[in-house]
Amino acid sequence: MEKLPKVYDPFQVEDKWYNYWLEKGYFHAEVDRSREGYCITIPPPNVTGSLHIGHALCYTIHDVIARWQRMRGLNTLILPGTDHAGIATQNKVEQQLAEEGLTRFDLGREKFLERVWQWKEHYGGTIIKQLKRLGCSFDWERERFTMDEGYANAVLEAFVQMFNKGYIYRGARVVNWCPRCHTGISDLEVEYEEQHSYLWFIKYPFADGSGYVEVATTRPETMLGDTAVAVNPEDKRYMEYIGKTAILPIMEREIPIVDDSFVDPSFGTGAVKVTPAHDPNDYEIGQRHNLPQIIVIGPEGKMTDEAGKYAGLDRYEARKKIVEELKEKGLLSKIEDYTHSVGTCSRCDTVIEPLLSEQWFVEMKKLAQPAIDAVKENKVRFIPDRYTRIYLDWMENIKDWCISRQLWWGHRIPIWKCLDCGEYTASKTVVETCGKCGSKNVEQDPDVLDTWFSSALWPFATLGWPEDTPELSYFYPTDVLITARDIIYLWVARMIFQSLEFLNEIPFFDVYIYATVLNEEGRRMSKSLGTGVDPLDLIERFGSDALRYALIQQAGMGQDMRFSDSRVENTRNFGNKIWNISRFVLMNLKECDTQDTQCTIDQSKLNLEDKWILSRLNKVIQTVNNGLGKYDMDDAARSLYEFLWSEFADWYVELAKPRLRTDERGHVQGMLRHVLETSMRLLHPIMPFITEEIWQALPHEGESIMVAPFPEADESLIDEAVESQMGAVMEAVRLVRNLRAEVNVTPGKRVNVVIVSETSEMRELFSTGAEGIKSLARVEKLEIASKAPEAAKGQYVASHGVGFDVLIPVAGLVDVDKELARIDSELASINKELARVTGKLSNEQFTSKAPAEIVEKERRIQSELLDKKTKLEERKKALGG
Ligand SMILES: [Zn+2]
Ligand SMILES: [Zn+2]
Repeated sequence: MEKLPKVYDPFQVEDKWYNYWLEKGYFHAEVDRSREGYCITIPPPNVTGSLHIGHALCYTIHDVIARWQRMRGLNTLILPGTDHAGIATQNKVEQQLAEEGLTRFDLGREKFLERVWQWKEHYGGTIIKQLKRLGCSFDWERERFTMDEGYANAVLEAFVQMFNKGYIYRGARVVNWCPRCHTGISDLEVEYEEQHSYLWFIKYPFADGSGYVEVATTRPETMLGDTAVAVNPEDKRYMEYIGKTAILPIMEREIPIVDDSFVDPSFGTGAVKVTPAHDPNDYEIGQRHNLPQIIVIGPEGKMTDEAGKYAGLDRYEARKKIVEELKEKGLLSKIEDYTHSVGTCSRCDTVIEPLLSEQWFVEMKKLAQPAIDAVKENKVRFIPDRYTRIYLDWMENIKDWCISRQLWWGHRIPIWKCLDCGEYTASKTVVETCGKCGSKNVEQDPDVLDTWFSSALWPFATLGWPEDTPELSYFYPTDVLITARDIIYLWVARMIFQSLEFLNEIPFFDVYIYATVLNEEGRRMSKSLGTGVDPLDLIERFGSDALRYALIQQAGMGQDMRFSDSRVENTRNFGNKIWNISRFVLMNLKECDTQDTQCTIDQSKLNLEDKWILSRLNKVIQTVNNGLGKYDMDDAARSLYEFLWSEFADWYVELAKPRLRTDERGHVQGMLRHVLETSMRLLHPIMPFITEEIWQALPHEGESIMVAPFPEADESLIDEAVESQMGAVMEAVRLVRNLRAEVNVTPGKRVNVVIVSETSEMRELFSTGAEGIKSLARVEKLEIASKAPEAAKGQYVASHGVGFDVLIPVAGLVDVDKELARIDSELASINKELARVTGKLSNEQFTSKAPAEIVEKERRIQSELLDKKTKLEERKKALGG
């Protein structure tokens, strides 16, 4: 029998076992048609990523499920990988270049991409190393990258197929343009923040000299690109203006006044300027009224030549000068304070500039329908269920998907344009000749695909699509997608429609959306706000097991999770508790080294507590299996904690101690070993390291707990009657302990106890449990009686349980008179203090004038004093005073 060291050292243990598992190849899965397969393709973290607490939760859940399914005997593949993360990665490298005083344009496309690949080789593996540190049992031999060779081929294949089917088109659209990243970004990548600003009221004179119309705007610099003023057709104030012509100030251009029901009469003056090239809604108005689109702000956020004398100025500089000029000309009627939400780039925080540009789009209507049906028909199931509605709302109102990005890092769009006839050709290989006119004057599109275009193919591209691989036919559809709620649209929805489009199959059966991790105050964790916790720091301090358990314990159904360091510290204590019980058990299994039949459970010797712990164990096995199967992981985790700490350690092991010194020793050894070994297998998916360390020290079969079978409940051992009987014994022990404390018996001293019950079953039960009660409550002599003994006042203290009473004779334990005198003097001083507080609190002057927290404090003191008083009076009564 191996001995466990006194103190558990997670660091040495975690490294040792992770390497062992890797060497044994337990994480790797091969296609094996004789076994049932189970597969998850993990959400690929960005190569730029470093493990944050949300990741830690996400991948711990993955690993818990993986280890559970593997132990249940399923051929389990958890396929890992990373995402090239277009903008995020390009930004990192551009930052690096900036430190050298360079931009990507100084290097040129090819050299720049070399730099990004170098960066990826160097830093791209960080998060993978961290996932290993967390204990993730993913198949690293199958690790993928969204730009590896096979994956790139899948992306090209998908694009060309979609293009040839007519799903992809070129269109002009006002996109969210980031002047810093120099690319259009999707609505979902824009973050909105409330900003204090102004509303400027500007007069646009009528061309006929008959006055002016006043418009209100938050962005006066865009007025240079105005091509109309719009009012609501229902707005009586402006009926007569419709059809008139105004002169655009500064540019001195004539623009029409149009009516459009989109205009909100309650905003500003009810008349708005229309800038089709710089606002998505104005663009729509422009389309309806055939208005020209004039781009006055360019891709760098600087005014274009169309801005006349303000050309070349930064957009904010131009705003100042334009406001100045309007003021001088008497065309600025007023400025009001105004708070509104401003869109910023989620990657770099720069204020978004809506900008009209030519982009590639995917037409969504046809693609969306099967993806809507699949969820409505329950083929894909969202857990928790409320996300079904969120998904369907989005899909039913889906807009076309803008898939081009003006970046260099990513999958370059495989489209060649003929510069002579304008024909577009999509191709997986280089196009040299235009298929339509034969011209050799062809050029590849400079843009790359939206990162989500490639990650939408993740579950099937990683399994080998477009090739018809054995992996694809065996492991696909995958079993579950485990992800965060904020990428349901960006990612989950797109995987579903792409899988249906390309494979005519759903990508996964379940979508489990896990909780968002908040800090203790309920705020979002953020590195920049300093409101986060660092999972790596927590692993360094408390070990991976502690972090994993702390996360899973709270991973309830979609509730936001409040998390702090102290929770991990508590779990570390749980680990230490498990370690200490295991050490005790192992010390008592010394002679169980060999195939010794002595250390086995003897059915004829099963007593009440044995049957009880077996019943409890089998219930916990049910709870854990149900919990993990239904993604109620917190349930599983908490039931294991309760069982190991409050039942096995606090009661069963304590009760076992005296029995180990009797001829029951072999049987009790067998019980301890069975319960502990089974518990370790149950706990393994959540706390893989400590359970392996303990399991290896216990007599066991097999190489590793990781590949040992997962416990299955034996329902015949679940016995409600036994549990309630044991409950009564435990209650008796608790009552004796409380009574001892009430009359101040020193902990070491043994007392005599009488248990009185009128029912013979109860008396029989207590006789059976007598040895346990005696050892746990430090009882010298235990008498079980049907009637309370005739006793003089003050001879016993008593307490009542359900169906029985517990009495302790006090003679010789305490000096009753002395104790009563002590209680009286304590009561006197409490009454005095109580009178003071009560007086104060009944004084209205005090309660209304004093600060609330002072009053609150006095109230608290009052209620504490009342509590103490009641307790003392009870004790006095118990002593016959
Ligand atoms: Zn940006
Ligand atoms: Zn051509």
